[in-house]
Amino acid sequence: MSTRAGIGYDCHRLEEGRRLVIGGVELPDAERGLAGHSDADVLAHALIDALLGAAGLGDIGQHYPEDDERWRDADSLALLEEVSGFLSEHGWTVHHVDATVICEWPKLGAARDKMRARLAEAIGIAPLDVNVKFTTSEGMGFLGRGEGIAALAVASVERADYAPRR
Ligand SMILES: [Zn+2]
Repeated sequence: MSTRAGIGYDCHRLEEGRRLVIGGVELPDAERGLAGHSDADVLAHALIDALLGAAGLGDIGQHYPEDDERWRDADSLALLEEVSGFLSEHGWTVHHVDATVICEWPKLGAARDKMRARLAEAIGIAPLDVNVKFTTSEGMGFLGRGEGIAALAVASVERADYAPRR
């Protein structure tokens, strides 16, 4: 049995006139949303990189290049689901993911359970195995000035038949 962990990080700018989607949940009262080629779901993107990292399958930019029109305004939860499928194809079972969203605004606590449920469904694990935390940047730096939102994630995965090369 082989157990591995992967790390993911992402950040996107906040802009007027964009939807704000975090962890597959649209925050309806947001005056600004995250800018990006896809729906810019910063939490889903960090989780995708954590999963790809744990499985040794590269990063999100390799699988979904920004200059590819197929991914314009893409639903990042669909990408998360697809990436989880890549892991299954390579024999990996996802055990647990944990993530932190860093922003001064908006307050996200009320959306936590919905995010956990939506992310868990996309990854194919139980909501209790998807932890989502929120923090601020204490007013410091680009996050503290509300210029964007960042997310960090880790994933742990397991594969039964993996024999490491020596
Ligand atoms: Zn991103």
